[in-house]
Amino acid sequence: MADEKRKIRIATCSLAGCFGCHTSMLDIDERLFDLLEMVEFDRTPFTDIKHCGPCDIGIVEGGVSNAENAHVLKEFRENCKVLVAIGSCAITGNVPALRNNIDLWNCFQEVYLYDPGTEGKQIPNDPELPLPFDKVYPIYEVVKVDYFLHGCPPPANAIWKFLTDLIQGRQPETGHELLRYD
Ligand code: SF4
Repeated sequence: MADEKRKIRIATCSLAGCFGCHTSMLDIDERLFDLLEMVEFDRTPFTDIKHCGPCDIGIVEGGVSNAENAHVLKEFRENCKVLVAIGSCAITGNVPALRNNIDLWNCFQEVYLYDPGTEGKQIPNDPELPLPFDKVYPIYEVVKVDYFLHGCPPPANAIWKFLTDLIQGRQPETGHELLRYD
């Protein structure tokens, strides 16, 4: 029996993201069936795998806003041959990074103590919760990143072109018509 060609293994995660980049990934619609002919998924929000194992491609949505984000990102970098920052949050911090100009303590007080309806409450401090960072960081400030796919989110057609290029061993390119930042 002929050896079955090994499938490319892909992991994805959302750090300080909104899952919009993952939703845009699903917007490739019926091409998902073609994708599944070529790849198998490791840890992603679409599978029940808890930790990223050895992979060919890691796709990261979202910036780094807390200790758990940094931990997951480092696990991806250690296990993925190629790491892709997908979407503006992973690439620049994007909207979540608007909090970078606000003192974190003031931010927490406003949300948990002063916001109407939260009087008498407290700032969550259970050790189970990941410690927030003072700022939201783009992922390249924490680990080395191999490719950046812009957009908020990148359009499905851009994701499809980019991924199929990578999977088929070509230098990934979206071309001007698929490149956007919004
Ligand atoms: S880049 Fe846009 S769509 Fe993607 S995670 Fe960030 S906010 Fe959501």
